Amino acid sequence: MVDALDRAAQAGFQSRFHRSATGLWSAPGRVNLIGEHTDYNDGFVLPLAIDRRTVVALSTRTDRVVRVASSFAAETVEVSLDELVPEKLDGWSAYPLGVAWALRQFGADLTAVPGFEVYIDSDVPVGAGLSSSAALESAVAVALNDVWDLSLDRATLARVGQLAENRVVGAPTGIMDQSASLLGQADAAVFLDCRSLAAEVIPLGLNPAGLELLIIDTRVSHSHATGGYAARRKSCEAGARALGVPALRDLSLHDLPRAQAMLDDETFRRVRHIVTENQRVLDTVEALRSSGCTAIGPLLDASHRSMRDDFEISAPELDVAVDTARRAGAIGARMTGGGFGGAAIALTPTELVPAVTAAVMVAFTERGFATPDVFVVHAADGAARDSGARP
Ligand code: ADP
Ligand code: MG
Repeated sequence: MVDALDRAAQAGFQSRFHRSATGLWSAPGRVNLIGEHTDYNDGFVLPLAIDRRTVVALSTRTDRVVRVASSFAAETVEVSLDELVPEKLDGWSAYPLGVAWALRQFGADLTAVPGFEVYIDSDVPVGAGLSSSAALESAVAVALNDVWDLSLDRATLARVGQLAENRVVGAPTGIMDQSASLLGQADAAVFLDCRSLAAEVIPLGLNPAGLELLIIDTRVSHSHATGGYAARRKSCEAGARALGVPALRDLSLHDLPRAQAMLDDETFRRVRHIVTENQRVLDTVEALRSSGCTAIGPLLDASHRSMRDDFEISAPELDVAVDTARRAGAIGARMTGGGFGGAAIALTPTELVPAVTAAVMVAFTERGFATPDVFVVHAADGAARDSGARP
């Protein structure tokens, strides 16, 4: 299916490269329903692909040259396939070029494939915690998988995107974002075991239940590559080491008293967030299966409290968004994404969406915060080829 964003990507390709793209591929951003910072602890997450996506218009070339361009950037970056080494790549082009590099690590013979030109367009907000980075990586990964005829499956393409982000961009992120972007389905979430990488599609049934998923983008930008995210990862690793387990995934609620006795207060609270959050993901999946989505509100609320008080990754804007949405009628709300900014989600009865939106706007204005971007998202299908014949 080709829509306005696809047409914009095709037009952008035409104006940068003076020819038509032979194919269009796209991949969605994602929002995490529950399971925060559990991915790199070998735990559980429950993200969904959303109806905001990144489109790539791409054509191969007859030589070894790669040129990447984006509606987000004025410059066109040019490299040779023979020069694709992580140390030489930086800035936004490290994401698409990093994927090309990472495909080689998963067996693609880059000496036998043609160069390409790619133009990127997107309606996924950047830095809002909706994973514009994974949308970009996944769109490029499915496109190159097609035009280079690699036949890699979606789970492998998710690992390709993760490797690009870890090794080329330098952000120590887990496998969740790419998995959601590649494996997501309409009206469903992806229940992912980040140790086994087993993924299961869990129907959400939001609309039949009269609920909408509201995103409140605080427009406070976060940064994964530095600071708090890496510090939380270190605390989790230290906690697992001290408790003698390979990863915090291997602890259950019963282990918490022992953890409290052994660890300093801060490390204990980091560990408690991960252990309770893993349990909340399992409880959410169980609630969705047995009672439906109206039952998950309290789990979302508890998740937010844990991130605010134990993991300490919330921000004043996120707390105000969550508290205000709940008071205005949302049945559950939490910050989502890596934290320190980005977005909150609020599970909201459809008829209360305008009231919740208005209440959040007023609360932000009263506190002198930047105007948030509040919008509804729907669970969407994962990455796909939008148009163009198979090569
Ligand atoms: P997010 O939460 O949105 O994933 P990240 O910091 O992980 O935030 O990734 C955002 C970065 O990804 C941007 O700063 C940019 O470098 C790159 N990026 C995302 N989307 C695009 C795009 N459409 N065009 C170019 N670069 C993009
Ligand atoms: Mg990201």
